[in-house]
Amino acid sequence: MHAHSHPATPDWAEQVRQACARRGLQLTGPRAGVVAVIAEHSAPLGAYAIIEALARRENKSIAPPTVYRALDFLIEHGFLHRIESRNVFAPCAHLDHDHRGVLLSCQTCGRSVEIEDESVGAAIDRAALSAGFVAKGRVIEVAGLCEECAGRSA
Ligand SMILES: [Zn+2]
Ligand SMILES: [Zn+2]
Repeated sequence: MHAHSHPATPDWAEQVRQACARRGLQLTGPRAGVVAVIAEHSAPLGAYAIIEALARRENKSIAPPTVYRALDFLIEHGFLHRIESRNVFAPCAHLDHDHRGVLLSCQTCGRSVEIEDESVGAAIDRAALSAGFVAKGRVIEVAGLCEECAGRSA
């Protein structure tokens, strides 16, 4: 198993905590709960799975709007990326700076790995602008096979 297969670790949760403290953001109970749930999973999760995992974790029922608000907060501040095509949420692997993440998303096991390559974002911006379009997404998703799954099918 490659370290890269697990972009979210308990360490990521700690990084989110520290970033919130540094930036004066409140990591409320529900927000911290969502962060903990995401940190515990190796693949990006959908909102429903997060609500279920949080309910199990806290041993009580969770009001979905609470989780949706927490997700909005985490996305707005760059802690999570939303993978639009699958409607799941992936932890941002580069919390310390503003960037456009490139998510390599495995179609077989569902795991995603975030890489950063400024030239990719710049190329998309240039190409979009030449079509009179302003690109705004904060994440570029590339669907395919991870190293492990590609190895298995080879
Ligand atoms: Zn990111
Ligand atoms: Zn895979």
